Amino acid sequence: MPTLNDFNFENKKALIRVDFNVPLNNEFMVTDATRIHAAKSTIIKVLEDGGSAILMSHLGRPKGKEDQFSLRHIVEKVIEILGVQVKFVDDCVGEKVAKAVSELEPGEILLLENLRFYEEEKAGDKNFAEQLSNFGDIYVNDAFGTAHRAHASTAIIAEFFPNKKCFGNLLAREIESIHKVLNDNEKPVTAILGGAKVSSKIGVIENILDKVDHIIIGGGMTFTFIKALGGSIGSSLVEEDKQELALSILKKAKAKNVEIHLPVDAIITDSFSNDANTKEVDTTQIPDGWMGLDAGSKTAEKFAAVIAKSKTILWNGPLGVFEMENFSKGTIALGNAIAEATANGAFSLVGGGDSVAAVKQFGFEGKVSYVSTGGGAMLEMLEGKTLPGIIAILNE
Ligand code: AMP
Repeated sequence: MPTLNDFNFENKKALIRVDFNVPLNNEFMVTDATRIHAAKSTIIKVLEDGGSAILMSHLGRPKGKEDQFSLRHIVEKVIEILGVQVKFVDDCVGEKVAKAVSELEPGEILLLENLRFYEEEKAGDKNFAEQLSNFGDIYVNDAFGTAHRAHASTAIIAEFFPNKKCFGNLLAREIESIHKVLNDNEKPVTAILGGAKVSSKIGVIENILDKVDHIIIGGGMTFTFIKALGGSIGSSLVEEDKQELALSILKKAKAKNVEIHLPVDAIITDSFSNDANTKEVDTTQIPDGWMGLDAGSKTAEKFAAVIAKSKTILWNGPLGVFEMENFSKGTIALGNAIAEATANGAFSLVGGGDSVAAVKQFGFEGKVSYVSTGGGAMLEMLEGKTLPGIIAILNE
């Protein structure tokens, strides 16, 4: 796997695809700078070698050149985090950029304007990729968040850098973490899959059945399984047409000796609100008009026992509607169990959208082994897909 350590960047211009797609508030202030922090070590390595860094990223989903999506809004934040001056050019291809690049000295950083101001970026346009490629001597991909897209700057561009391309530290670490969980793991391996729907996790479940010992199911998708097994789920979230699928997953798991753990009790409510009435009941006995929005206390204990004996843990998706305090306890209990197992030597990887939000909200970030920066990209890797942004670096 080509990494930064395979190159000396002295007097070289590193063209780095970063993922600076950060959330901004109404005043265009960065509200979560995780992704900028995550790119720091790659950029600093290039500068310390005596090279210069040209940073490319997208921000949001602009339709053409829309100032609200300009990367100029984040320049101050990038400077603050990197602790180094950053130059900005208000385009990402063309004369102006070529001039700024040619004037760049070793030790300097240039941030290009939002790549998605050009529709050629998402279209994976080869000509656009070639124009970008002219700005660097070595191409570095450090954008895990977009590694599942075959865009010009994430994949197509790599073919213009034969033997002069590598993964940045972040992307390398993401790949290694997933590899450690799925292929180079210490047993028992436990995957926790929560979140809203079975349909969005089915690809993951099918792929990991061959790789894990335990699967803990939680969140809204619990009830499709419980209903398929004959339980009463009241008005809980259900995917009626996925019940057969749920039964076939249980059957396949049994054949492969994978234990599936379903919640045995739930916190139920009579309306989807934090202030509504709540009760704790068996997951199979939810009355009409009530819905399950969190795992109950027996479930929390049962799941904690499975996690305590696991040596490798993958967590994707919350166990309840953690955004509302009254339905966050199951997710918090799970986080505590994972933190404890990690402290006792297990390797734990948290990734994929909302579980990352939960981990941050409840302060588990430093208590798990690795928190992935990619949502969709992480899910696709867990589905066993090879991502275009990764293949492009590995190809000659
Ligand atoms: P996902 O993006 O599929 O990981 O789903 C995450 C979302 O699932 C979160 O916003 C949770 O609020 C939601 N969720 C978790 N448990 C439930 C539940 N029992 N009923 C409805 N939504 C849920």
